Amino acid sequence: MFLKKNKPKGSLEVICGSMFSGKSEELIRRLKRSQIAKQNTLAFKHNLDDRKTIEYVISHSGNKIKAFAVDTVKLILDLTPPEIEVIGIDEVQFFSMDIIPVVLKLVSMGKKVIIAGLDLDFRGIPFGPIPALLAIADKITKLNAICVRCGAEAQHTQRLIDGIPAKFHDPIVLVGAEECYEARCRNCYSIDIHDFIEKYEQKQNSI
Ligand code: ADP
Ligand code: ZN
Repeated sequence: MFLKKNKPKGSLEVICGSMFSGKSEELIRRLKRSQIAKQNTLAFKHNLDDRKTIEYVISHSGNKIKAFAVDTVKLILDLTPPEIEVIGIDEVQFFSMDIIPVVLKLVSMGKKVIIAGLDLDFRGIPFGPIPALLAIADKITKLNAICVRCGAEAQHTQRLIDGIPAKFHDPIVLVGAEECYEARCRNCYSIDIHDFIEKYEQKQNSI
């Protein structure tokens, strides 16, 4: 027989994948199911462009749910009333590492936290706090998009500048430029990684 404890049962679910893989759609689906189950839900997304506070989590197919747009993780704690049972957070890759203690706190308070974010940046490097969140998650869902070049499963987000793959040292975050990104499979994805590898090797040799 298992011992029953009275502690509230919080949990962390992480939905990750490339752009267009359906992360926002899946987050919205899970939040709407919680609402059907009469659970108090609240959604947040990162407010990258710093303009509106009341926003929507919107998928590329137009599905949406109302959300607070915030630029610091502290606001997530401040804006969550005690009666909230399920919290969804989109675009989590843009938050600082401070998101980790905040998520752990919400989970320890018995809340179900569902987060969605890009696992890799356009360079193919794990994005911000996502790797750590994957490690502490109870449940992980990794989604693929469809490669726009060959129709295979796409793991990568290709950034294009005037139709040409962006360079490794370009800025990681490019606000409001969705048209610069394509979903691509490993074979069709292209990044100029040689600079990075060369510099890394030079550094290793000089140690
Ligand atoms: P994400 O949050 O991962 O960027 P969304 O949930 O916003 O993805 O959008 C997923 C939707 O995007 C799909 O259901 C589909 O309608 C549309 N879509 C557009 N381009 C692609 C693609 N290359 N692969 C898969 N879905 C795509
Ligand atoms: Zn491809």
